[in-house]
Amino acid sequence: MVPFLNIHTHQAKQQDGVVAVQSLSLTEGTFLAMPKTKPISIGIHPWYAHLENLPTNMKYLNVLARQANVKLIGECGLDRLRGEEMTKQMEILAAQVFLAQQLKKPVILHCVKAFDELIALKKQLKPTVPMIIHGFSKKHEMAQQLMAQGFYLSFGAAVLKSDEIASVLKEIDQPFFLETDDSNADIVEIYARVAEIKKISVDELKDVIFANWKKLGLL
Ligand SMILES: [Zn+2]
Repeated sequence: MVPFLNIHTHQAKQQDGVVAVQSLSLTEGTFLAMPKTKPISIGIHPWYAHLENLPTNMKYLNVLARQANVKLIGECGLDRLRGEEMTKQMEILAAQVFLAQQLKKPVILHCVKAFDELIALKKQLKPTVPMIIHGFSKKHEMAQQLMAQGFYLSFGAAVLKSDEIASVLKEIDQPFFLETDDSNADIVEIYARVAEIKKISVDELKDVIFANWKKLGLL
C-alpha cells in the first residue's frame, strides 16, 4: 500500500503506514545517535547556527550526509527573527547548499522573512538539486514567486487552520509535499484536509505525493 509521506518532522516516533523524514540539526548533539536506516535529513538549523562553528559543523556534515538514509540536507535556511545576522546566515546556508550539490541530495529549507535573500542566494549559487521550502504559510503571490524561481513547497499543520493556505494549495499545480514539522498534528489528518481542499480522495493524494517524492529521488 502507498504510505503517507511526511517530508519533515522533528519527532522520532514511528507510525504504521507512514514514512517520515526525521530532521536532525548538527547543533543538537543528537546526531551522535543518528539513525542508520530510517530516512532522515541533517543540516545546521539557522536558529542554532554560529558562523565560528561552521568549519567544524561542515566537517561532520560532510561525513554524515553521505549516509544512504540521509535523504535531504537541512533543515537549513534563513530566519530574520532568530539566529545570526543575515549575512552570516547566508554564508552558513551557502556552505550546505554547496555540499548538497556535491552529494546530489535535495535541500530542505527554513525561511522566515528572508525570501528575497533566499531567492538571491539561489540565483547566485544556481544549485541543480531540488530546494524545498518547508512549512510554507504565506500568500498565493509568494508561492507563485517561489515556484517560478524553481523552489518546491511543503505544507504543514497550518493547512488545518488557514483558509489562505487552503487557497494556495487549491491552485498549486507543481509538485508539493506535506509535513508535520515540530507540531503534534497527525500527518494522516493533514492528508485528509489537503485531499478535501484539492477535491480528490486521500488515496489519490497519496499517489500524487508518492509521485512527487519519486520525482525528487526521495524514494
Ligand atoms: Zn523544522
